[in-house]
Amino acid sequence: MRRRLSAFVLLVGAMMTALLVLVSTDLAAQRATSPRPAPTPPRPANSPSTPRAKFAEWARITDPLPGPASAIGFYSAGCLQGAEPLPLDGDGYSVMRPSRRHYYAHPSLLAYLTQFASAMYARDKQFLLIGDIAPPRGGPMLTGHVSHQNGLDADIWFTTRATRPTNVQREQLGAPTFVTGRKTLKPTWGAAQAKLLAAAADNDEVNRIFVSPPIKRYMCKEYPKAAWLYRIRPWWGHEEHFHVRLVCPAENPLCNEQDGLNPADNGCGADLDWWFSAEADRDWQRLSTSTEPRSFPDLPPQCAAMPAPRSR
Ligand SMILES: [Zn+2]
Repeated sequence: MRRRLSAFVLLVGAMMTALLVLVSTDLAAQRATSPRPAPTPPRPANSPSTPRAKFAEWARITDPLPGPASAIGFYSAGCLQGAEPLPLDGDGYSVMRPSRRHYYAHPSLLAYLTQFASAMYARDKQFLLIGDIAPPRGGPMLTGHVSHQNGLDADIWFTTRATRPTNVQREQLGAPTFVTGRKTLKPTWGAAQAKLLAAAADNDEVNRIFVSPPIKRYMCKEYPKAAWLYRIRPWWGHEEHFHVRLVCPAENPLCNEQDGLNPADNGCGADLDWWFSAEADRDWQRLSTSTEPRSFPDLPPQCAAMPAPRSR
């Protein structure tokens, strides 16, 4: 009985996590900066018309598009040319869930991740666990993330390991949450996780990092004067991992960067308080019970032809 109960709890947990990712990134898309005006893309001759078919077309892609590395469009409406796979094991990190093939990145994100992991291993002797980055050509996904489309978003677990995970563990280990009831940190949260997050944010390449609201509140209390604190932003979900978003690479003019945050506002005031309000509770209630199907994003023309044409 107890086993059956815990299996049920795990299942519910997994479903909630999936929902959280879905909801959190959906909202990220809504709050996105207004996209740059772009000409209407000509639709390739045999391209599918329903959202479901379009998502399916992107899901079939298994290799990067060759060419110079280019992050195209916005984080939640874009794609990626010249992506590089993050090697599954590197200095100080391991990639989780490799079967999803979401370990492709823009070279600038690849450099950020490998340097960060290497520095953290030198400091803590712990391996970072890297979650989803992007599919081989980025692009929209039917389930899971709404962002992670232009190769500049990456998820990093708050849990680290003294040893590398086995191949089975990479697929099966659950990412433990550090938050309970959306608003309260668990006793497992502490200085180790906060120091990891602080180091991740202390980098000018970082546009922002999404974390659960009580994690932001903890950082505000522990590091009120830190120059990087403004980059850490509260969001739905993100209770077991943090989501690093990099700025657009200077040499990628088609990349649509999210509005920069004001470094003078550490984000510890009214904006943070809202996440603990009754209004946020109502929003969460609405979002977590919504059954609306995901809409297909309006992609830049350079992305439209990117899925490989289907062989008939
Ligand atoms: Zn993410």
